[in-house]
Amino acid sequence: MKIQAVRGMQDLLPESKAIYRYVEDTIRPVLKSYGYSEIGLPVIESTVLFERLVGESTDIVEKEMYTFTDRSGDSITLRPEGTAGCVRSAQQNGLIYNQMQRLWYAGSMFRYERPQKGRFRQFEQIGVECFGMPGPDIDAEILFLTARIWQELGLTSEVTLELNSLGNVSSRGAYKTELIEYLSAREDELDEDSKKRLQTNPLRILDSKDAGTQAILKEAPLLIDHLDDESKRDFDGLRELLERAQVPYVINPLIVRGLDYYNKTVFEWTTASLGAQGTVCGGGRYDTLVEELGGRPTPAVGFAIGLDRVALLVAENSVTDKVGDLDLFIASLGSEARTESMLLAEQLRRNFVGLNIGVHCGDGKLKSQLKRADNSGALIALILGEDEIAAAEVTVKPLRAEDPQRRMSWPALERYLKKVFD
Ligand code: ATP
Ligand code: MG
Repeated sequence: MKIQAVRGMQDLLPESKAIYRYVEDTIRPVLKSYGYSEIGLPVIESTVLFERLVGESTDIVEKEMYTFTDRSGDSITLRPEGTAGCVRSAQQNGLIYNQMQRLWYAGSMFRYERPQKGRFRQFEQIGVECFGMPGPDIDAEILFLTARIWQELGLTSEVTLELNSLGNVSSRGAYKTELIEYLSAREDELDEDSKKRLQTNPLRILDSKDAGTQAILKEAPLLIDHLDDESKRDFDGLRELLERAQVPYVINPLIVRGLDYYNKTVFEWTTASLGAQGTVCGGGRYDTLVEELGGRPTPAVGFAIGLDRVALLVAENSVTDKVGDLDLFIASLGSEARTESMLLAEQLRRNFVGLNIGVHCGDGKLKSQLKRADNSGALIALILGEDEIAAAEVTVKPLRAEDPQRRMSWPALERYLKKVFD
């Protein structure tokens, strides 16, 4: 029996991987330009961290975690998201004791869900977490930052910012009671999941995808009409900042986010292009999470971008030019020429740092070697055969210009390459 990849795990073949790399390479300098510092976090955390911080009645903890008992009998979990681990680390290492932090991380997350387009069991996120700032200025900053990322990726017209405020814990509590009252009266018409959530996590009913439930929600009381004064003031402040910076948004009063820890500002960047997996970035404030972990009250806000979905968008919009891997390709004919071609390549790599040079290995017809050179994206092919070796020369064949091929000495070749690639 052939061994296959585990369900939900993807192989990123070179063409896809190049797109992921392009997305990351575009996002990283934006984060840097806003003064954010990268932090490296473990892929494995204690199971109890997620149970406590993400919340027992969330999809993630209820049914999506990869949890194992390790060889010493401890319960460990492959991280399903990055915020909990980042809060744990910031707290454990004293990063948030009386100081402000703007942190970011990139890496794989793991969730046991049904694999489909834009939904995998191992997926990639770039996340940002900011500590010590109560907002709404920092909320605006991370929204400016995400808007800048879409701009740099050429995706601005593909995405929409959807915004909501969840209020603080007490205004949310009062709202919850009202929502339960409203929905209980119509319990028969709710879908099965929502019926269950009525007891465990009624706010999650708001983002139900079930048509019947959605119809009932049209008349439901809205969280945003029940905000406490501070949340309302902060939300207005955030909206003003977005408007003055000309970052368009829509208010979506049904956004609650899947995790328990959010309060006040929550948001999603969505696209119409990826079907049901339309959220490419989600985040919000989580002002009580640090305390939840035993720390001092610390205001905090963050978001995570789903890299796989962004890569799909980039691929579909063909925002990247298809760039080849090579600048220069060296073909050879005969064993002596093959040896010389290896040595020439080493000399050029030493003298032209940054130039991507591919060498043909093994035997092979010149024609098929040149075909590979062409597919590699290289601008120039060098050809070494018996004649060239005898004359201590090399044949230079431009692949993307009309110029004819020419023979030259190795020193002349270096002068020529300097002209072409500098
Ligand atoms: P969804 O509603 O699509 O399940 P979510 O609310 O569970 O998303 P978050 O926990 O907010 O997602 O994670 C932030 C982002 O990570 C999502 O907006 C999405 O882009 C991405 N993401 C989440 N789960 C997956 C997955 N299984 N595969 C690929 N990307 C994912
Ligand atoms: Mg999910």
